[in-house]
Amino acid sequence: MDAIDFSHHLSPISAARTPSPLKSLMKYMSMDGMISLAGGLPHPSLFPFVNIEAEVYSPGVYLPSNTSESDSELLRFNVHRNGRANGQVVDLATGLQYAPTAGFPWLLQYVRDFVRVVYQPAYKNFDVLMNDGSTDGWSKVVNLLCEPGDYILLEKYTFPSTQANWIPMGCKGVPLEMDAHGIRADVLERTLREWDNAHPGVKRPHILYVIPTGQNPTGCTMPVARKQEIYDICVKYDVIIVEDDPYYILQFDTYKLPSVANGHTAPPPPPSYDEAAFLDSLVKTFLSIDVQGRVIRLDTFSKTMAPGNRLGFFTCSPLFAERILRATETSTQAASGWSQSIVSELLHAWGPGLGGYLRWLSGLQSQYVIRRNWMCDAFAKEFDAVQEGDEVIVYGKGTRVKLLSFVPPQAGMFLWVKVYLSENKEYAGLFKSSSEDPETAFEQKLWQDIIDAKLLISPGRFYVAWEGEKKPRDAAERDIVHFRLAFSMTTKEKVDLAIQRLAGVLHHAWGLA
Ligand code: PMP
Repeated sequence: MDAIDFSHHLSPISAARTPSPLKSLMKYMSMDGMISLAGGLPHPSLFPFVNIEAEVYSPGVYLPSNTSESDSELLRFNVHRNGRANGQVVDLATGLQYAPTAGFPWLLQYVRDFVRVVYQPAYKNFDVLMNDGSTDGWSKVVNLLCEPGDYILLEKYTFPSTQANWIPMGCKGVPLEMDAHGIRADVLERTLREWDNAHPGVKRPHILYVIPTGQNPTGCTMPVARKQEIYDICVKYDVIIVEDDPYYILQFDTYKLPSVANGHTAPPPPPSYDEAAFLDSLVKTFLSIDVQGRVIRLDTFSKTMAPGNRLGFFTCSPLFAERILRATETSTQAASGWSQSIVSELLHAWGPGLGGYLRWLSGLQSQYVIRRNWMCDAFAKEFDAVQEGDEVIVYGKGTRVKLLSFVPPQAGMFLWVKVYLSENKEYAGLFKSSSEDPETAFEQKLWQDIIDAKLLISPGRFYVAWEGEKKPRDAAERDIVHFRLAFSMTTKEKVDLAIQRLAGVLHHAWGLA
């Protein structure tokens, strides 16, 4: 089945884009025997770059936190100006030249194969297109679909940069209640069903922005059954789903609280690898269930290789891909030639096919499990913790004072900690009597205390979906605040120290020290 026509979702700006006339000549330039005097291209002999050499980890390297170049087996490759003869898949003469807007052909084919094997889109004629990472990808999607003043459906807590893109356009978020599995389908259905009555004369939202795996900031992951429910509702109300999924590969097992009596967690088993089992273990995406071409998926190499690549890709219907291509021609032109060259050669060196890259991803995944466990274990060590269903409930050490809770994430990089304020005397007294928004005021105070203890975490209010104005808290949000703790960028020693510092501040602030 092919994608259906969603052109009625295009913003007027996107619908009005015409091809850049010079870009339309590019296909002739590569014709055999053509002498081109048409484009303003510098001759490659005038590029100062002749050859770059890279040393990289082999895809199967075991990556304990202290991996260094000396104790791992390195692969080497070159990207030479005239490299194709040496078996390279790109050469610098073309890699650093003005290039096809959609991306380098070799890389596009690789990414297309990756999408086909890993996501298995449910419609046939999906297209892929490189971009400069998901931030750029999302910005182009906003341009593609949004008009000033539009309402955008999104998780109640979301990634702030994505909102910062459309807030200046006068767009507003429609926050959707979440549970441990992400957006609640019943809430989405009700919101759309009641929209016209609740907002007479206001255009119904036609975009759902969702971070389905290891959600930023809450860490939750949406199972495929929930995705299917949400997808069906989006079909019913004609909503385009934007699946921003940078943490997709970082999926883990369920966390089990370590025995506090033992006081330590067993070291992780050495990673074993089976490609089919690895692929099987990954939750199905919105793209996998998309039979209509209603999903725009954003993937990025930021978390799977390095953010500085500024390289990612869209998967979407040909109609959306073509409109994004037009917008790319007149903005970023193409993803960086350096990034595409080096990443292409790396993926090639890691071949054959997708094999090496998948192996790398599985190794990466096992490193994030270890980091997730370090952080959760550190809470169990510094506080009294019990596991109840999905949640870990955390009490002051040696007390029954419930300080916080979290759902150990099964993907991603973040622990979303919910702090209970009602048993804090300062909050219950001074803050509640003197502040209109005591939770936010106390969150700020607590955050500052934590900074003073030399620990930087991010305050929950940064992630609240923007509704165009500050709304009063609903009952479920009273007397609680959130903090987001990233377990990605740390060593075991640092994470232990971090949670020790946090415990010091909380015990002191609750008078438990
Ligand atoms: N989307 C989400 C949900 C993210 O968490 C991040 C990174 N923090 C990004 C996009 C940015 O990704 P990129 O580096 O590819 O622009």
